[in-house]
Amino acid sequence: MKTLSLLILFFANIITCKEITTVYVCNSPGAKKYHNSSDCRGLSNCTYKIIKVDIEKAKKEGKTLCGWEK
Ligand SMILES: [Zn+2]
Repeated sequence: MKTLSLLILFFANIITCKEITTVYVCNSPGAKKYHNSSDCRGLSNCTYKIIKVDIEKAKKEGKTLCGWEK
């Protein structure tokens, strides 16, 4: 019984730790990258609006992490 409650606690922890990550993308039709930071070098030449999106949404749109970061 003790093991079971520990297991439940363990999984509850995983769920709460899984936060939604937002990334920054240039709202240009040709933008293929997402950025972890809004003041990234890769965004400095964005002439469109910089928008915040869910990382999963960015990935679904085929965007990949910008080359300036990591
Ligand atoms: Zn970037």
